[in-house]
Amino acid sequence: MITRTRIAPSPTGYMHIGTLRTVMFDYYLARQTGGQFIVRIEDTDQARLVEGAVESLLNTFKKLDLDYDEGPVLLADGTLGEKGDVGPYTQSKRLDLYRPYADRLLADGNAYVCFCTSERLVEMRAAQVAAKQNPKYDRRCAGLSLDEVKKRQAAGEKFVIRMRIPEGESKFIDAIRGEISFNNADVDDQVIIKSDGFASYHLAVVVDDYLMKISHVLRGEEWISSTPKQIILHDMLGLPMPVYAHVPLILNPDKTKLSKRKGDVSVESYLAKGYLPAALINFISTLGYNPKADQEIYERAELTELFDLSKVSRAGAVMNIEKLDWMNHQYLMKLPAADLILAVQPFTTLDLASPVLQRALIIERERVSRLTEFADKLGAYVELGGYDPAILVWKKSSKEDALEQLQNISTVISQLPADTFVDISLLEAAVKEYISSNALQNGNVLWPLRIALSGLEKSASPYELLWALGQEESLRRVQLAFESLS
Ligand code: GLU
Repeated sequence: MITRTRIAPSPTGYMHIGTLRTVMFDYYLARQTGGQFIVRIEDTDQARLVEGAVESLLNTFKKLDLDYDEGPVLLADGTLGEKGDVGPYTQSKRLDLYRPYADRLLADGNAYVCFCTSERLVEMRAAQVAAKQNPKYDRRCAGLSLDEVKKRQAAGEKFVIRMRIPEGESKFIDAIRGEISFNNADVDDQVIIKSDGFASYHLAVVVDDYLMKISHVLRGEEWISSTPKQIILHDMLGLPMPVYAHVPLILNPDKTKLSKRKGDVSVESYLAKGYLPAALINFISTLGYNPKADQEIYERAELTELFDLSKVSRAGAVMNIEKLDWMNHQYLMKLPAADLILAVQPFTTLDLASPVLQRALIIERERVSRLTEFADKLGAYVELGGYDPAILVWKKSSKEDALEQLQNISTVISQLPADTFVDISLLEAAVKEYISSNALQNGNVLWPLRIALSGLEKSASPYELLWALGQEESLRRVQLAFESLS
């Protein structure tokens, strides 16, 4: 069987971090079997449309470097196109496709026309809730004769079409959760064609999954209660059933559902906070699922090869930001220098074409978790901040000693051959050699040197700073320190 997976977002304006998890599972499953991964836009709820939402969603795919095989695409001129041959991939462009299925359900008695007004439905619901019953359509229109239906339609009365849920039980095997069953008596006679003539989500999803030959429907666990309606529709229409897998929710650390109030929910906000796309993908793919017990960092190809739906935990997955920070740091450390520059540039106004800053990036990445943290650290490499000269004096030393050490180390630095500056370890060896051969204390030399170079009480090591700043700038800074202290 060819695996065809799909993500079917409603265009709400952004990609939810939980959607990314489902996207990745779809992606791995499709790639693993040489199948296809499809993007379909579910915009049948016209009231919820957001301008530019599809473009922004596709942009997120691009930023994450995630490819899909079929679906809407952003063209070079910024407009939308499509790829794939079972489209269109946007439901509002497929409206004509749904109606024949609704007609078939009507003809077979599996659906009926309902004229109940929204006022009546509100009243009915309120009465049911007051009587502690499950709110559900009471089937007032389920027994209308064909004649009556025709008469009322001809008179221009507004109507919807509802599916007629049969008696009995609906069961399916969820690929993550195992068997799930529902008593059909608890399932509402769902509207399949709305009064504006649009198919509802439930009919559209079933027809589209069939016409697009979707083999695996992966989606968030909040859709579980929709599944009985959809399997009943498949059954009534005689369509092959896809495999269903409901992916657990992502939770706040206090185990509540991840919400905008308590943390970020959109993928874009994580990118804007300086998480690398690859790190975010690694993190989200292994949340509540780890293919190997003793490994955390995985290449995309490895995750694809190892992915196993049945190993995904059924429990909600906690969004552990400390772990994401740790993982992002691991990815930052692995980035080739050229990629690091490209990744950091959008997060600083400084021009990273500067060789000093490029070396500073290599040093400072040791101490950051996110790309946004670089901006603050880079400033000191471009320009010394105004610092209090008193901090040049090490706590176990004196001003006189600091002045003497600065003067001597300045001579040492000026005499170093230029090629010492190509390597941090050569600089370290040279400075240490000077300290030991003169029987000096590390702190007496290294403290004032480091402060002179960085202007900061906390900074990278003096050797790293010498390397990043180079001989000339290092000497200038040591000289400035000497002058400001004397
Ligand atoms: N359109 C639904 C959503 O916005 C997706 C439901 C499904 O995948 O079947 O999340």
